[in-house]
Amino acid sequence: MENKKILVVEDEADIREIISYNLMKQGFQVDFARDGGEALVKIRAGKYDLILLDLMLPVFDGFELCRIFKSEAGLSDIPVIILTARQEELDKVQGLELGADDYVTKPFSPRELAARVKAVLRRCAAQGGKETEEGQIKAGPLLIDTNKYQVSKAGVALEISVMEFKLLVYLARRPGKVINREFLLDAAWGGEAFVEPRTVDVHIRRLREKIEDNPSEPRFIRTKRGVGYYFMDEG
Ligand code: CA
Repeated sequence: MENKKILVVEDEADIREIISYNLMKQGFQVDFARDGGEALVKIRAGKYDLILLDLMLPVFDGFELCRIFKSEAGLSDIPVIILTARQEELDKVQGLELGADDYVTKPFSPRELAARVKAVLRRCAAQGGKETEEGQIKAGPLLIDTNKYQVSKAGVALEISVMEFKLLVYLARRPGKVINREFLLDAAWGGEAFVEPRTVDVHIRRLREKIEDNPSEPRFIRTKRGVGYYFMDEG
């Protein structure tokens, strides 16, 4: 949670200060933008883990800003918490489906805001493995290229068998969902082959040896005892 970088987009100096003071106290790195234009430049240039977005802004407003960067590759996944002043605004925001992750109405307690920020970051981290339009799934240092049948870790290509690859992709596309061994058998081998469910365990073990830092305490491929496996990246 610490060292996460947050962009606060807010034109009112006193609100900016209250937010930043409280978030920095919680160990977050905080950066600011005072209007929609400045925010867009910063979002495109920097790597933010979350954006706190006021709606009524100079240059162009939070609605416009959201619409722009949510449609840009690589930026659409940045979680957004919208700060709204009025209930009518909130209704409008939710109606527009801007893809925000949460909403906080002003006046808010700084503590509540920090708690919401943490909750959204946790939720986003737990999802892990979102697939890009190019068919890439990224989870921490892991990059799975589903089109090229390649997996790399921290930029280093890994030697992975076709079966291991199929298992990994099947799980990574369904983060957090426990898949039982029979389903995994079908996913990797299809209905034809006679394969023991135990074979899945063998392949999972080999896969873990390749992708995990510590295969006995896996970060990515977790075991659900007596059921099967699931993919998770909590960083
Ligand atoms: Ca404002």
